[in-house]
Amino acid sequence: MTERNVISIVDQRDSLRPPLPLTASGAAATAGTPLLDRLARPLRDLRISVTDRCNFRCSYCMPKEVFDRDYKFLPHSDLLSFEEMTRMARLFAAQGVRKIRLTGGEPLLRKNLELLIGMLAELRTPDGQALDLTLTTNGSVLARKARALKDAGLRRVTVSLDAMDDAIFRRMNDVDFPVADVLGGIAAAHEAGLGPIKVNMVVKRGTNDHEIVPMARHFRDTLGGAVSLRFIEYMDVGATNGWRMDEVLPSDEVRRRIAAEFPLVPVGADAPGETAERWAYADGRGEVGFISSVTKAFCGDCNRARLSTEGQLYLCLFGERGYDLRSLLRGVRPADGQPFSDADIAASIDLIWRGRSDRYSQLRSLLPPAEAGAKRRVEMSYIGG
Ligand code: SF4
Repeated sequence: MTERNVISIVDQRDSLRPPLPLTASGAAATAGTPLLDRLARPLRDLRISVTDRCNFRCSYCMPKEVFDRDYKFLPHSDLLSFEEMTRMARLFAAQGVRKIRLTGGEPLLRKNLELLIGMLAELRTPDGQALDLTLTTNGSVLARKARALKDAGLRRVTVSLDAMDDAIFRRMNDVDFPVADVLGGIAAAHEAGLGPIKVNMVVKRGTNDHEIVPMARHFRDTLGGAVSLRFIEYMDVGATNGWRMDEVLPSDEVRRRIAAEFPLVPVGADAPGETAERWAYADGRGEVGFISSVTKAFCGDCNRARLSTEGQLYLCLFGERGYDLRSLLRGVRPADGQPFSDADIAASIDLIWRGRSDRYSQLRSLLPPAEAGAKRRVEMSYIGG
């Protein structure tokens, strides 16, 4: 088990108490005043990793050499239970979260995930809105699960697919899994009404970049253009994928290749904090998006927090340390031996977010390569993309 950098909360409990009386901060959030971090970014989006396991071994996320058959995944007792995740989600919603994305590893490997989705679908924001429940999956079991996920209350899915060609797809995910089955999952999700569906393709120069146009062509003509394809620049996430800058194909180049075949026009962002730069096909046959964390950092309005499957709160995909919220869920207050209350946990979330100043992608190019390379960033498979 890789030793992780964890910031314990319990023993810093007193120093974590917010300057404002607890109710004030709670009241501020409910009164619609967003909880802002040090860069004035509100807390809007919570990603919950429900498992650290996956049935793929994508080289940019969970390389087989590291995540091999001897890799020690987390024991079930370490994982947050559905009740604990729901309690956390409820407290984050009270602090301004509007959207929950379930991730992993591969979230659909977590047994009875529909139960969790049903519990989250009951939650409401302070102004009575249901949460926007989404999920990112590799699509491997989506065909079987789509209907049940929708019935449980899931709204949308994002499916990862890195090539149309089976051989290249295998090179990217390092398991013997056919593209056709992922496409079957996407069709089933569409059938079940889990849309608008997004498909994410990580582009690695020299490995799958010649699949850019075939992917665009396929999804332009599929499901009436109901699927929005997004191209993600290959990122230096974690500390195990052997990332090199010369394997990054900048989004501008990806867009040029598509536009040479299918003219594109720019489209505005859907919502603040949206990671994709959106472009529509000039002939009206759908749209594509570009997620350019390496060449066009979007930290300026990053409103995302990430909860690992064992309850560590990370404030950035490239974070090195997580805040141990599970100790508040399962521990007792040193002062009186009582379990931590909702107000206690809300105060911790409040203070942690107010102290946030993460903006790794903006700083990446300023860091000396040796320093950037030495960072012990958390693995993406542990906190979700
Ligand atoms: S690098 Fe970190 S702060 Fe910047 S957009 Fe990504 S997750 Fe947000």
